[in-house]
Amino acid sequence: MQPPPSWGGPVLDIHHHLRRDIDTDIGHMEGSGVTHAVLLTRAPADEQARQRMEKYPKKFIRFSSADAAKPEAADILRASLKGGSRGMGELKSHVAVDGPEMRRLYDIASEMGVPVLIHFGEVEQYPGEGTFNTGLRRMAALLKQYPKTTFIGHADFFWGNISAEVPMDTPYPKGPVKRGGITDKLLADFPNLYGDLSANSGRNALARDPEFTAGFLARHQNKLMFGSDCSCSDGRGTGQASKQPLIAGKCVARETLAALKSLAKPEVFRKLTWENGRKMFQMTA
Ligand SMILES: [Zn+2]
Ligand SMILES: [Zn+2]
Repeated sequence: MQPPPSWGGPVLDIHHHLRRDIDTDIGHMEGSGVTHAVLLTRAPADEQARQRMEKYPKKFIRFSSADAAKPEAADILRASLKGGSRGMGELKSHVAVDGPEMRRLYDIASEMGVPVLIHFGEVEQYPGEGTFNTGLRRMAALLKQYPKTTFIGHADFFWGNISAEVPMDTPYPKGPVKRGGITDKLLADFPNLYGDLSANSGRNALARDPEFTAGFLARHQNKLMFGSDCSCSDGRGTGQASKQPLIAGKCVARETLAALKSLAKPEVFRKLTWENGRKMFQMTA
């Protein structure tokens, strides 16, 4: 078997959905050269995430999620945070990002000093999927209203909006980026917005326009964080569920890390893959 890649230092994956057992979690990390991870956990599985942290106290922190559309979400997440969860996410519900269901969660997040990781989807990936956390175009007002809440943006509509032209017939737009996109502006204007580079959405955004991407990564070098959101089992691409061309049969962690390595200066690569997350989550190597 190929040796795992080395990325020249510790690597934090901020988008690691809790897998079926601890060996599979560790297997994916070791196979892709990732050393630390934020475990994204549905609140009922908090206990499983806690067990992983007991076994590897330095490697993991955990977030908890609940469906914001359900009235009980606020109580569930408050209890998870009191129990040691360090953030909310990912939050992926069929609601508006600035609607009452989400606002009550932002209030809790700001009160408890934890970030919220949000899935933005306004173009269906398949018919009937619906939309998630709609209203990216209204985010400036929201970021102003919640200066004490740290928002981490993720998913296809967040990344589609690096461009000022956003086709509404594909979640993964291709080709040159028209300067002046909403995501680029929001990251520049609001200290409480960060970006999660995970998934095919992040990988696709990085691949569109290398000249734009190099500048984008340099511009927001203190605001972007590597994540995988990978469905492969071993950090080598085995069992990858996505058929999207950039990641089909591959490990998203490896692909995105390789892209970042080639597009960012070494000191920026360290920030994106470790320093920014380490600071936000007070992790140690
Ligand atoms: Zn997502
Ligand atoms: Zn993988």
